[in-house]
Amino acid sequence: MREYKNFINGEWTSAQSGEVFVNHNPADIREAVASYAKGGRADALAAVDAAKAAFPAWRDTTAPARGRILSAAANILASRRDELAELLTREEGKTKTEAGMEVGRTVDIFRFMAGLSYTIGGQVMPHDLPNNMLFTKREPLGVVALITPWNFPIALPAWKLAPALVSGNAVVLKPASQAPSMALELARAFAEAGLPKGVLNVVVGSGREVGDALATHPDVAALSFTGSHAVGRGIYQQLAPRMARAQMEMGGKNPTIVLADADLDYAARLVAAASFGQTGQVCTATSRAIVEAKVADAFTEKLVEKARAFKVGNGLHAGITMGPAVNASELKGNLDYVRIAQEEGAELCWGGQRLDGAEHEHGHFMTPAVLAKVKPNARIAQEEVFGPVLGVITAGDFDEAIAIANGIEYGLSASIITRDINKAMRYTDRIEAGVVKINQVSTGLALQVPFGGVKHSSSNSFKEQGATAIDFYTRVKSVYLDYSA
Ligand code: NAP
Repeated sequence: MREYKNFINGEWTSAQSGEVFVNHNPADIREAVASYAKGGRADALAAVDAAKAAFPAWRDTTAPARGRILSAAANILASRRDELAELLTREEGKTKTEAGMEVGRTVDIFRFMAGLSYTIGGQVMPHDLPNNMLFTKREPLGVVALITPWNFPIALPAWKLAPALVSGNAVVLKPASQAPSMALELARAFAEAGLPKGVLNVVVGSGREVGDALATHPDVAALSFTGSHAVGRGIYQQLAPRMARAQMEMGGKNPTIVLADADLDYAARLVAAASFGQTGQVCTATSRAIVEAKVADAFTEKLVEKARAFKVGNGLHAGITMGPAVNASELKGNLDYVRIAQEEGAELCWGGQRLDGAEHEHGHFMTPAVLAKVKPNARIAQEEVFGPVLGVITAGDFDEAIAIANGIEYGLSASIITRDINKAMRYTDRIEAGVVKINQVSTGLALQVPFGGVKHSSSNSFKEQGATAIDFYTRVKSVYLDYSA
């Protein structure tokens, strides 16, 4: 079992309370994966103090010099890809292949932002008067807090951390208690890469306590959060009284529309991958397949075929394509929703069963669930499940399919499968979502374009990822210069 402490002011630090907690492998709960110092309010305050003290020197370091530290950290992480992927699988449960891709994405994010460091500047604008100049200048904000969920335990902290650091901010990162090892491994890589003490601090501990201390701290200039809508809304309200900058990216209930002209086998393959990949524990997972009535039965049949092909088990074992739910309560929630859906009139076509024999005995395993005849207003069609549970909803035609897709509070990712380019483009215009995919899985993001939701999926303030990510972590000064005298 690994033993982790918090990373505060460049030191591995026990919790001031002395408390520790242990995480277990969701594929085999007999295995203790790691122990953690259980940080609390006092540890969060110490981390903010360290970040505040480190900020001026980091701000005054040039952006390309900061970028070189990101590059060095990326190289360290790349050299440890296999070891990190294995640890990620042991703690979070996704398959080793999925974990390896996530570590690879993390490396790419740091490299992308390192390159971008040469471009963080401003704009020059024409002045009304001769021999005068107008320009803008970007500056870091100060201490920023990052609060992240467990489902992408390394890539998600990375896509906040990279723009925060390269812009010159000092950071306090609070990862999810369910899977904090990757955030602490990021801190280790940055320490080895030469990041000055105090610029990055990682405090593990209860969201309510550590998160609350960060959200209400007057020295925290901005907070970027990813997680559930309920928690994000609460933090947003804590930031509002002092008008701290807020970036809240939250849940989804993502549709994939399948039109009658689609290649149904291809459509079923995409929907199954987007629904059950990473055990459905993805904010952009497809959880509603909205299918034109005339092909609904044929599509569902093919979908069941694909769902049955998933091999559920320990993600470290060869041939496994779907790991466990991250913990017992998520598994129970998934199974409860399968039952609720049936009580509301849906038909369980396949899966949705707890697996507990032989190799599954000690893990949080279930088969992926395909539910048909789901009504658009049913709970299973409206509430985020965050597991491998998919509802098939039938629509009379294209317009009704869009109305169903939009008839929801969330708006994160949305896909359509069709050969009709006109409909695909009308869908792009009318769908209420931050990410639109055409003939692609609703999951999976390119790191170079902006990412974020609309409606209840986001605070609708600043986008993450791509070059746009820098906007949240910087403020702009307008400078007027007269050189006529
Ligand atoms: P969560 O329960 O909202 O927790 C997210 C983070 O917030 C964790 O670090 C958690 O700490 C912390 N937290 C909990 N209560 C808090 C409080 N009162 N004040 C401050 N922080 C608090 O979400 P999750 O279960 O980890 O992740 C799943 C959710 O994340 C889903 O809704 C999913 O859609 C969403 N998600 C969204 C995106 C996106 O980009 N839009 C990406 C991935 C996931 P503890 O772990 O210590 O409780």
